[in-house]
Amino acid sequence: MKMLVAGKWIDRDRKIEVLFPYDGSVVDTVPVAEEEDVERALESAVEGAQLMRNLSAYERSTILKRTADLIRQNEAKFTDTIVMEVGKTVKEARAEVVRTAELFELCSEEAKRIHGETIPFDSLKGSEHKTGYFVREPAGVVVAITPFNVPLALCAHKIGPAIAAGNAVIVKPASKTPLSTLLLGETLLEAGLPPQALSVLTGPGGGVGMKLVRDRRVRVVSFTGSVGVGEEIAKNAGLKKILMELGSNSPVIITKSADLQKAVKAVVSGGYSIAGQVCISVQRVYVQREVFSEFVELLLKAVKELKVGDPKLETTDMGPVIDEQNAQRIVEWFDEAIQAGAKLATGGRRNYTLVEPTVLLEVPGKTKIMREELFGPGVAVNSFETLQEAIDEANSTRYGLQASIFTSDLFEAFEAIRKLQFGGVLINEGTRYRADFMPYGGYKDSGIGREGMRFAIEELTELKTVVFETGR
Ligand code: NAP
Repeated sequence: MKMLVAGKWIDRDRKIEVLFPYDGSVVDTVPVAEEEDVERALESAVEGAQLMRNLSAYERSTILKRTADLIRQNEAKFTDTIVMEVGKTVKEARAEVVRTAELFELCSEEAKRIHGETIPFDSLKGSEHKTGYFVREPAGVVVAITPFNVPLALCAHKIGPAIAAGNAVIVKPASKTPLSTLLLGETLLEAGLPPQALSVLTGPGGGVGMKLVRDRRVRVVSFTGSVGVGEEIAKNAGLKKILMELGSNSPVIITKSADLQKAVKAVVSGGYSIAGQVCISVQRVYVQREVFSEFVELLLKAVKELKVGDPKLETTDMGPVIDEQNAQRIVEWFDEAIQAGAKLATGGRRNYTLVEPTVLLEVPGKTKIMREELFGPGVAVNSFETLQEAIDEANSTRYGLQASIFTSDLFEAFEAIRKLQFGGVLINEGTRYRADFMPYGGYKDSGIGREGMRFAIEELTELKTVVFETGR
């Protein structure tokens, strides 16, 4: 595919190969953007931002609604593209496409609800003869840098609110999975977005991405990806707003009063969907001693039933991880835990990029799987005595995206809500649950700012305060 620079499809001699993670075959190539492409995208975005801020809310909403409709019309094409570039199963890829159309529809609705408030100036002595209000105005040029694992929907989480708020956007998708983002660019133009307002630049993050991050014309960098790259961006962005959706190591607490069947379902879907390559994947499970054996038995039965294999088949439940290097790393982390004393209950091996769904039991706290982000199909299950102990363990990480508790005791639930240091706490639902309109983002090293239409729009707008003198 070519890349999209200010409404034009541009090719370059230097290419990046996009590989099918299941067998390493070449799916397509994309060009590596050159200095002049980055410059053109930026110049055009400045112009695009002016055009966008002059569109009415109704016009922006209509473009977003048309985008949703066009995505639905092209569901099969988007689905196939995601299967091939990410290695997601057909079922997972189709769900991402359906979700992306819904996302644009939500953005279309939210575009009509961007407003300010009046300010009670007379509450301050000496300001009795003043009145005023604040409004939200577009930030201007937004740079969106996105990861490989959810290439379409996570892009939509940035582009949709940016357009709803009246901004221009330059997207730098992950080099492993740029194809569905380019298709989305084509769709947005077809839906009537002014071409100056969107570029999708392909090329390495450290080169193309970093040039965009450093440029002073950019007002907001909205990044989703790993903590290390997030820190690099923060160091280089200078005086602009940075929004960060970063990694995690999500815990699930299961008390003796929990519905174990429900908890098992959530752990399996949260731990192994997209081969565990989700920022809110279930990675650590803490089960109260009294129900530990029963839970493990139910979990192992469900995990062993997962059909692992070719993601193109409708019958496959879990496909490969993104590349062999990551498959190797994931298995090494399992081995490290086993050497430290964990018990391997199932899985633990790999065949090229297919990693077996793995369950480790009683894993020591100092191991990587308990501390860092695995981004692979493995879950560590440990036992606990008291809820306080489980909460302390759950909090013992530098991450804080989402955490869950399964319990039928209301007081336990509220204790967990109060004490868990995470951006989202879910009761009787797995950590992987996310409704796209809810405020979503992390505490601690998991991020800065919130996504979810209304909240992303707040981040992507500036407040302008207006004050009137009303009397003497
Ligand atoms: P990544 O390696 O951090 O890459 C993310 C994006 O940043 C890619 O587009 C990458 O480009 C670009 N990039 C790399 N170095 C850069 C630099 N120096 N300056 C600017 N941009 C740079 O992450 P990933 O492996 O694709 O994705 C997995 C990570 O994303 C995990 O940590 C996961 O938890 C996180 N994630 C978080 C959320 C959330 O909502 N919190 C959601 C999904 C994923 P290249 O591809 O060209 O290197």
